[in-house]
Amino acid sequence: MVKHMEPIFCPYCGKKSLEELEPTELMVDNDVWYILHYECKECSEMFDRVLLKDVDVNDFEDNEEGLWS
Ligand SMILES: [Zn+2]
Repeated sequence: MVKHMEPIFCPYCGKKSLEELEPTELMVDNDVWYILHYECKECSEMFDRVLLKDVDVNDFEDNEEGLWS
């Protein structure tokens, strides 16, 4: 089963005030990995989250376009 975007919180302080930064695409073997970068607004720590490209990236991109347009 594909896991959908669960609520994300800061691994350092446990808060959910996260800034989502520009994602990175990375080829690993024959898979495209999608690396999401987050910065915590509470403690300013940064961390990454990796998704495989086939995990609803299209939905994700659609949502982003909706947000930014
Ligand atoms: Zn934090």
